[in-house]
Amino acid sequence: MVNQNDTILAVSTPRGSSLRAIIRISGPDALPCAMKSFRESSPPSTNTETQATYRSLKGHADLGHPGSHAGAPAQLYIMKAPCSYTREDVVEIHTIGSAPLVEALTEKLLQDARADGTALRTAEPGEFTKRAFLNGRIDMVQAEAVLRVIRSRTDSELRAAASQLEGGFSRELKKTHGRITDLLSMLEASIDFSDQDISPVSGEDTLAEIEAIAGDLHRCVRTADNGAIHSGGVKTVLIGPPNAGKSSLFNALLGRPRAITSHKSGTTRDYLGADLEVDGTALRLLDTAGLVQKDTNGNEGSAPETLAIDMTARAVDASSLFILVLDGSKPMTERSFDSLPAFPFNQAPGSSNCLLVINKADLPQRFSIKNLPTKWRNLPIIYTSALTGDGIGELTGAVAEKVTGGGGVECSASTEALNARQRLLADSCLASLDRASRSVKEQLSAEFVALDIREASDTLGEFLGKITTEDILERIFSQFCIGK
Ligand code: GDP
Repeated sequence: MVNQNDTILAVSTPRGSSLRAIIRISGPDALPCAMKSFRESSPPSTNTETQATYRSLKGHADLGHPGSHAGAPAQLYIMKAPCSYTREDVVEIHTIGSAPLVEALTEKLLQDARADGTALRTAEPGEFTKRAFLNGRIDMVQAEAVLRVIRSRTDSELRAAASQLEGGFSRELKKTHGRITDLLSMLEASIDFSDQDISPVSGEDTLAEIEAIAGDLHRCVRTADNGAIHSGGVKTVLIGPPNAGKSSLFNALLGRPRAITSHKSGTTRDYLGADLEVDGTALRLLDTAGLVQKDTNGNEGSAPETLAIDMTARAVDASSLFILVLDGSKPMTERSFDSLPAFPFNQAPGSSNCLLVINKADLPQRFSIKNLPTKWRNLPIIYTSALTGDGIGELTGAVAEKVTGGGGVECSASTEALNARQRLLADSCLASLDRASRSVKEQLSAEFVALDIREASDTLGEFLGKITTEDILERIFSQFCIGK
């Protein structure tokens, strides 16, 4: 286990050449360690130890090369505890981003410290953020948001991560956690008073409170997933009858062949996923199995086809944006749509999260808007040819408009997203609340209810990082890169 009292050091800019490199030092000896390798340009400050919390000094990094007076131009940024990211003394040395220079300077800092017997060592991955967490500067949700900021690939992912870092989501969860703890104290009090005739909380009130708490938590989690701007991007699904050209469109959108297309009906047996970026927004594009139409006897199709329909339904469930693809070269009757399962837009005509694509525009068109079921006549229509590429630009434009242009797919900067750890804990907390509510309904004694409420409280506590073990910390912070 690493010593939390050591002073730690890391290069916090990416490896390789860049305009500027930053060496970050945090801990009780950060300032004296940095000053050993820094010469301030005249006039030198009086006494760095007694200066204000934030300061910057201009000067040169001393690489310790005998006979060399110049050194590399450098700037020192001093942030005194507790007014720093880690709440410890932090010093950043900003210098020219040359790899050999940064290496030599790092080595000199470590050597000087060794010579003095100062506990300075290189930081573990994520150790700066871990210290920020351990010193109460940020909570666990925010610490994980730092990781998400680092990993974000697009503007919208960055916005979502930054909003989580800002702490609004944590505040909501803390409120819910507070309510669970209050309920727990009430229940424990009622256990203590069970031999007397007074009960501080009725079964009805307990049930109402459990359900309200579960509702709050559900809302938090749903908000987290609604916009689905997480590492996977906004889930977008291509749906429609077999052979309409969904796989071909999928490939055309990606600009490279991924899905296998075939002229035989129903060849895509699973749904395929690929990441795509449209105007700065990450999309997770899902191509579904061709929907199997009922045969003339109204039978649903063979077993694998039923499985394919199941897969489609799951992809549809998980998606926030729907692209309905129809073959424009085929005549359509109202009956052509009978086989389509109840997609969300069936309930919401002209729904804001759907686009209608009439594909195969290069072939003679037999599609007529009159034959569309009434509920779809208001959907925006884009005519494409996956074969020639015509209309693909319009389609990506329409997708972007839906996602980023206020077109209906929820995608606000306040969108939060849960990572695997958080989802597991949220689900487990909801399960405990559900058990507790069942116990109340079955009129079991308060001990049973309290047991599950305690579990719910502990799980949410773990979510927020109030309860941590070295093992959990190790698992979370080891995903970071060194220097963060
Ligand atoms: P899916 O079952 O909806 O995924 O359909 P596919 O993408 O597998 O396409 C079915 C057939 O239609 C294949 O032979 C494709 O080459 C063809 N196809 C797809 N898009 C177009 C298009 O825009 N124009 C023409 N002419 N053929 C297309």
